[in-house]
Amino acid sequence: MNDQAFTIDDHPVPFRRGESIMEAALLAGIYIPHLCFHPLLEPHGSCRLCTVEVNGKPLPACTTPAAAGLEVTNDTEALNQQRRTLLQLLFAEGNHCCPSCEKSGHCELQAMGYWLKMLDSPFPYLFPRRALDASHPAVLLDRDRCIFCERCVRASRELDGKEVFALAGRGLNTRLIVNSPSGRLGDSDLEASDHAARICPTGALLVRGEGFRTPIGKRPFDGKSLSETCLQRAAALLKEGKESER
Ligand code: SF4
Ligand code: SF4
Repeated sequence: MNDQAFTIDDHPVPFRRGESIMEAALLAGIYIPHLCFHPLLEPHGSCRLCTVEVNGKPLPACTTPAAAGLEVTNDTEALNQQRRTLLQLLFAEGNHCCPSCEKSGHCELQAMGYWLKMLDSPFPYLFPRRALDASHPAVLLDRDRCIFCERCVRASRELDGKEVFALAGRGLNTRLIVNSPSGRLGDSDLEASDHAARICPTGALLVRGEGFRTPIGKRPFDGKSLSETCLQRAAALLKEGKESER
């Protein structure tokens, strides 16, 4: 049973006790941009794309609990401009060459660029040279495309019952590391069927041989916007979770 309601951009949004603003919004069919959030994972609040104004104060929607009477502002040009800037930084800090990337058309980072109408980046491109790990027979790790969202870290721990990934270092020296005797993916217990291998919002973690199977024009984001896809995914996964909690 829904407890009470709050508003997002003046639309009433019902919620159940324990839900975040993000969960309640997605279940009500309202899209709040996000990359590190995933309905199956504990929220993390690191990408900051879901920052909304709650009674005038900027807060991440994924970690802020819904409460009766809150007035949330989400879809404004000012907030979307902040999100565009964060996205431009993500592109500038990595190596992203979409036309040749196996994830193109399946990639949430790329789709976010379209959704936020990002045309370029005013920031200098850093062209990092982070180690590529091609040691696993079924999964490729291209660290240059990593945005450090920790979806794979959380999925491995929370859903797969493993601890395959972790972040190490700070600032521009942050890097994704693999927990295996050699530090290589091929020596870890990651399997291609693991959630961790398939939950990456970019092409940093790729199950080999799958991306190019779907021709251009028929890939998920060729026909649907990111908001449409995320709302459908959240409706399916969050509703399923709520049903099983009853
Ligand atoms: S990971 Fe996504 S954004 Fe980066 S190059 Fe590949 S398709 Fe483009
Ligand atoms: S590999 Fe993918 S899921 Fe893991 S931290 Fe990097 S971008 Fe996120």
